[in-house]
Amino acid sequence: MSALATNIHEILRDSFGYESFRPNQEEIISSSLGGRDTVAVLPTGAGKSICYQIPAIAREGLTLVISPLIALMKDQVDALEANGVAATFLNSTLDPAEASRRLSGLAEGRYSLLYAAPERILSGSFLDQLRRWGLASVAVDEAHCVSEWGHDFRPEYRQLGSLREHFPEVPFLALTATATEQVRLDLVSQLRLRDPAVFVASFNRPNLTYTVIPKSKASRQVFEFVTERRTESGIVYAQSRRGAEELATMLSQEGIAARPYHAGLEPEVRAANQDAFLRDEAKVICATVAFGMGIDKPNVRYVIHSDLPKNIESYYQETGRAGRDGLPSDCLLLFSEGDLVRNLRFLDEMSDPQAAEIARRQMEQMVDFARSSQCRRIDLLGYFGEKWPDENCSACDICLNPPETWDATIQGKKFLSCLFRIQQNSGFDLGLNHCVEVLTGANTEKIRKWGHESLSTYGIGKDLPRKQWADIGRQLIQLGHARQSSDQYRTVGITQTGIAFLKGSDSLSLTKSRLVDDGKGAGDVAKAGNIECDEGLFQELRTLRKRLADEREVPPYVVFGDQSLRHMARAYPSGGAEFLRVPGVGRKKLDDFGEAFLGAIESWLESNPPLQFTDPAPAPPPKMKSDNGLSPTAQISLDRFQEGKSVPEIACLRDLKETTIHSHIAASIEKGVFEAEPRDFFSEDEERRISSAAEVSEEGWARLGPIHDALGGDLDYSTLRYAKAFALRSSASKPVVDVS
Ligand code: ADP
Ligand code: ZN
Repeated sequence: MSALATNIHEILRDSFGYESFRPNQEEIISSSLGGRDTVAVLPTGAGKSICYQIPAIAREGLTLVISPLIALMKDQVDALEANGVAATFLNSTLDPAEASRRLSGLAEGRYSLLYAAPERILSGSFLDQLRRWGLASVAVDEAHCVSEWGHDFRPEYRQLGSLREHFPEVPFLALTATATEQVRLDLVSQLRLRDPAVFVASFNRPNLTYTVIPKSKASRQVFEFVTERRTESGIVYAQSRRGAEELATMLSQEGIAARPYHAGLEPEVRAANQDAFLRDEAKVICATVAFGMGIDKPNVRYVIHSDLPKNIESYYQETGRAGRDGLPSDCLLLFSEGDLVRNLRFLDEMSDPQAAEIARRQMEQMVDFARSSQCRRIDLLGYFGEKWPDENCSACDICLNPPETWDATIQGKKFLSCLFRIQQNSGFDLGLNHCVEVLTGANTEKIRKWGHESLSTYGIGKDLPRKQWADIGRQLIQLGHARQSSDQYRTVGITQTGIAFLKGSDSLSLTKSRLVDDGKGAGDVAKAGNIECDEGLFQELRTLRKRLADEREVPPYVVFGDQSLRHMARAYPSGGAEFLRVPGVGRKKLDDFGEAFLGAIESWLESNPPLQFTDPAPAPPPKMKSDNGLSPTAQISLDRFQEGKSVPEIACLRDLKETTIHSHIAASIEKGVFEAEPRDFFSEDEERRISSAAEVSEEGWARLGPIHDALGGDLDYSTLRYAKAFALRSSASKPVVDVS
């Protein structure tokens, strides 16, 4: 070993107490000590700090560490001092006496490391001071902040380029946890690095399992996920402060130690909540993205995104806070098209068009990730320029539970020929949504304007909902049969391979996207808590489900949803036929799990008497429709309503929820059984707002959730349901999008 190598190993052991270097650390340290500009891209937790701390200790003179967060400087310096390393920081929190003490210490050359924020570079006197103090190297932490393409651009970082001009002989070491190829190139040029040595570690986090599910009732979904991990620590990210507060309150009410964290809290409260989480007193922290920078809690077992992260880098960083100790941990993303619509609207309001454009593209990449039906690791690592071998990663929802494929030859051809016709007719391409609208025979202004209702492909896709057509379109783009322009119009056109497929006789297989379903799964989650059942047995069944899921290495919901378990814990099925009657149990599940669950129920009943339930049986089987197309139960509600009873009265009388009665009446309006006036149900202004939200929603009227979200939750679902009923009633004579 050379003297230098011996030396850095000694420092590693003596000052930090570690036996060996982790991947890349030694190379980075040697490169920097060799006087070369160096870029280190290592994922969070990989150990970036010692990459600049060890050279700082090893070399003569002062190392300046640029760090964006004043709050973290103190922690870093405290930790170094505890290891006997001479380090200090300068920032605005110091009182004058303390600041001057440090300045004289620096003048005397007492420190190896000086932490400072980038703003300080602006003062000319600081540059002179650095020269006097014998500046020997510069470490730029969180170096992606210098790039506008990074997820956390900080204009102050741009000053650092001039620092290099003042100290051309001093080696720079730039460190970051996230950098796409683009950000990497950008930071090299912004910091004016000269022929840097670049080290990029693998971004794969093998112990993290990534799952994306359609968001229906976020708080319910969060609750269920958290309850299954009651004893574990987790972070739940929400987009808004209000969202974070509500989740924390909800979880607390359910008896889970949860605290909020966001920039709207008093600093003391925020610090106390963070502390409680770090000390495991609070199990869950419900936070906005304000939380996490520099959080080094090793045993975070899960990270939930209850809203759409703004880009993939943020998502990667935030999920990266799970499982720092290397133990298996879960990352759950709740995805809804409504979030997308809302976020895009925020972007429209941004004043800087260039920044808005960058943000929009990044969000699209995030959405592509969520919608994708290929391994999450391939997508995530690919984003960072890393190739994941084409094999099952065994730790993402797609690999654990591959989406089914279906023969989409006919639908693919319909879609592509529609693109072809639009291009041929207009002379240019239009957006994905427009093509979907032509296929489903919608009556939009754009269609009328371009005369697209006369295309031969108009209305040939009424058999599928819009959302599914959009998904088909996206998969065709992924496959290269169609391409999407990268400008803001995102127009879609057919490619040469698309034309070849259209003319040829090859078949086309597409995946069934999990985000495009009939909403049934979502309903399960929403209703699960409402079903009265034998709670003791329910807990038993959950434990059993967990065990079976673990054995198969799948998430528990793959075995059975909570709703199925609650039905079992209420009906006490004995024997296969009864078990089959439980919602969510089919032949396959009976074969796979029937014995285990029936056995558990039987042994439960040996020592516990079965309970009787008085509330109406949940989820009755679908009713026979009466002649007018209305279900008997809706007919009864309508009869009472027409007799003059109010909705609350009917609900009380029938022992049903008010929302159910509303939906009965809305159904009778929609089916034309009941003549009613819109103004009895909502104002003109409300009508305008709702219909414009429905128009921009990708799913149109098919799902109210996105509309509800797009309106910021201002209007309740019953009102939306009525608006839908009137909208579909009034357009019944026109060719309408199939929403049933
Ligand atoms: P990063 O800044 O990359 O997120 P840190 O520098 O905070 O990571 O390091 C993460 C953790 O790993 C810290 O607790 C650190 O002390 C520890 N660590 C760093 N290098 C080593 C090593 N060579 N051996 C053991 N532990 C290490
Ligand atoms: Zn995978």
